Amino acid sequence: MRQTPQREGILRVLNASDRPLTVEEISARMGEDRSGLPTIYRNLERFILEGWAETMLGQDQVMRFVRCNSKRHHHHLECEKCGRMVEVDFCGVEDSLRQLEIASGFQITKHQLSLFGLCSDCQTAEKRH
Ligand SMILES: [Zn+2]
Ligand SMILES: [Zn+2]
Ligand SMILES: [Zn+2]
Repeated sequence: MRQTPQREGILRVLNASDRPLTVEEISARMGEDRSGLPTIYRNLERFILEGWAETMLGQDQVMRFVRCNSKRHHHHLECEKCGRMVEVDFCGVEDSLRQLEIASGFQITKHQLSLFGLCSDCQTAEKRH
């Protein structure tokens, strides 16, 4: 697929970040390739449809964007302490969802999980205290 400088710029910023970013933060980090916020939004929407990025609603209720490397269904974990986000390349809750389907009579077609915790670095730092 042909990449415009804007698209490349946005992907570069998302790839370089280990935590989700707001549109304003993405714009600020784009440097030379910076385009208007509406253009960045439009590109991000495309990325989400293409599976290259996801939106994340933070605990502060602010919407941020994160780069997705996995092409299949997966989840992200966010560290409550340092804000780092880690992608895990699998789901892990499918069996539980099957139980939910049985209990509810629903056919579950999609789900999103917000997972928060302490990353391994922050756990180590806590233990040193
Ligand atoms: Zn993702
Ligand atoms: Zn952490
Ligand atoms: Zn899942």
